[in-house]
Amino acid sequence: MNKLTGHHQNCTLTGGPLTLLGEEETMFCENIVRFADEQIRPLVNMMDEEQRMHPDVIKRLFELGLMGIAIPEEYGGSGGTFFDSVLAVEMISAVDPAVGVLVDVQNTLVTNALEKWATEAQKRRYLPRLASDTVGAYALSEAASGSDAFALQTCAEQRGNGYVLNGRKLWISNAMEAGIFIVFASVDLSAGYKGITAFVVERDTAGFKVGHKEHKLGIRASSTCELILDECTVSAERVLGQVGNGYKIAIETLNEGRIGIGAQMLGLAEGAWAHAVKYAKERRQFGKAVADFQAMQFQLAEMATEIEAAKLMVYNAARLKDAGREFVKEAAMCKYFASHVAERVASLAVEVLGGSGYVRDYPVEKLYRDSKIGKIYEGTSFMQLATIAKLMI
Ligand SMILES: Cc1cc2nc3c(=O)[nH]c(=O)nc-3n(C[C@H](O)[C@H](O)[C@H](O)COP(=O)(O)OP(=O)(O)OC[C@H]3O[C@@H](n4cnc5c(N)ncnc54)[C@H](O)[C@@H]3O)c2cc1C
Repeated sequence: MNKLTGHHQNCTLTGGPLTLLGEEETMFCENIVRFADEQIRPLVNMMDEEQRMHPDVIKRLFELGLMGIAIPEEYGGSGGTFFDSVLAVEMISAVDPAVGVLVDVQNTLVTNALEKWATEAQKRRYLPRLASDTVGAYALSEAASGSDAFALQTCAEQRGNGYVLNGRKLWISNAMEAGIFIVFASVDLSAGYKGITAFVVERDTAGFKVGHKEHKLGIRASSTCELILDECTVSAERVLGQVGNGYKIAIETLNEGRIGIGAQMLGLAEGAWAHAVKYAKERRQFGKAVADFQAMQFQLAEMATEIEAAKLMVYNAARLKDAGREFVKEAAMCKYFASHVAERVASLAVEVLGGSGYVRDYPVEKLYRDSKIGKIYEGTSFMQLATIAKLMI
């Protein structure tokens, strides 16, 4: 049962216009927009200033079924599609991209990886919790392995019936709030990427600790932390997928996750554009609204055109994934393009607001800061271009 629409099935149009939503999808979006407007918007500035996610926001996300959107109903989820997750990330990010990434990591990386790779026992243990009250995190990056993710040095030594993990993870989104972590470690560093294995680590596991929290430019309410694994002991049942198959899990989930970041950046751009239009219509100079000047109209029209292009790319990639078609190139392209559009639109929005765009009393200053991350995480823009080139040239 979809908690936001009260219906059982989400209908995804096939063969129709990409941006034309089905009745279920429309209702789903309307409910999220209302929720974001009424319950997230009033907290955005405070959360950004204090660099923390308000617990009420997380609680409501769970209550609305937005933390387990595509988790099947038999595991307590909302039984939606990947495209639904993308819509949710877009709608929420138009109000706060920091909340957007919380929802994104939960749905497009953590639950997504578990649905695909977990054993039945693991699904029964983790999916109901992730759908109802537990935030998840996805821990691949380390200090010396970012773009070159498979150079990771965290190791997992087999001892008795389980594994002992040692190492440090860096930049882990949601870490402060998370109870379940997907951690990538190598069972054999000499085997290169073939040693990489994914483990499901629960927060209270002995030897596991969340370390330093980063002080960031943007998406400041989203926690980004170091993880410390010091003789962190897990049983063999915590291995996700096969031993040595972690590189495949990482590649495949990140290919999908990228569409979510495209959606986050799309939502951000839409939010910035809406603020810019509203302000331009209200602000008067030379005896008229600044929106009446053609130069302003052309800028807003250009921004809207770029947003439309980004939207088509994000929606297409998500719908291709749901249709079981090849989507890797489209996912890389949509993330690359949407993050470019978000940065440009947010930057122009700052200019449209003039001095007001440069201060924290208005929302576009924050959206401009938030936009920068789109070109960095889940593969930098150069890494997206490398993927596109590899697939096409
Ligand atoms: C806020 C935030 C949240 C994050 N959340 C997570 C998370 O939840 N989980 C997680 O595992 N990671 C997370 N990350 C890590 C993120 O994915 C990495 O920062 C990213 O992949 C880039 O790695 P790096 O920072 O080491 O940069 P580097 O890889 O060191 O890149 C530095 C520069 O070199 C360029 N470069 C590198 N290799 C090449 C190449 N072959 N060709 C051309 N240019 C190249 C890059 O494009 C970049 O411009 C997060 C990061 C941030 C900042």
